[in-house]
Amino acid sequence: MLAPWDSCFDCATIGLSCGRLCKAVLLNLGSWMRIGMGYDVHRLVEGRRLILGGVEVPFEKGLLGHSDADVLTHALMDALLGAAGLPDIGQQFPDNDPTHAGADSLKLLGEVLRLVKKEGYTPGNVDIVIAAQEPKLAAYIPAMREKLANVLDLPVSAVSVKPTTTEGLGFVGIGAGMAAWAVALLEPMSD
Ligand code: MG
Repeated sequence: MLAPWDSCFDCATIGLSCGRLCKAVLLNLGSWMRIGMGYDVHRLVEGRRLILGGVEVPFEKGLLGHSDADVLTHALMDALLGAAGLPDIGQQFPDNDPTHAGADSLKLLGEVLRLVKKEGYTPGNVDIVIAAQEPKLAAYIPAMREKLANVLDLPVSAVSVKPTTTEGLGFVGIGAGMAAWAVALLEPMSD
């Protein structure tokens, strides 16, 4: 099997019909795609609502935080900001700023989208993992995907949310908190 840039460098002559990725195409892809990742953790406590991906999930505990503590959306915001080379959400929305107390994280996500677009990028797709031992999240995932897709102006198919437990291991496994990881792909805006 040929390495991607072994031969068909001259696309003007050979074109892409050969089925191989030529060096020129690879270099061009590298110049317009941006990728970022985000990670967040919040502690589970009694007396708080559990908000994940903008959806309220019925549970005896909720996540503790200055805003609504939507750990899933926070990881997503950091992935988007990272892909755009912008400061993280701790710097964008400081937790000692009273204007962000109890904030709806979907509204903050909308603000992150505005910042990303100001840099000339728009999301292509995002993929998120939410680690929670309890409650079972599968039934709420479609609503989370729809809410996030609405804010990001993406089709639901471009917004993936995957729940997992940690098999009882670690702080997630004992129910002390939840963690989320996200990756986001940015593309340059066409206009
Ligand atoms: Mg957070």
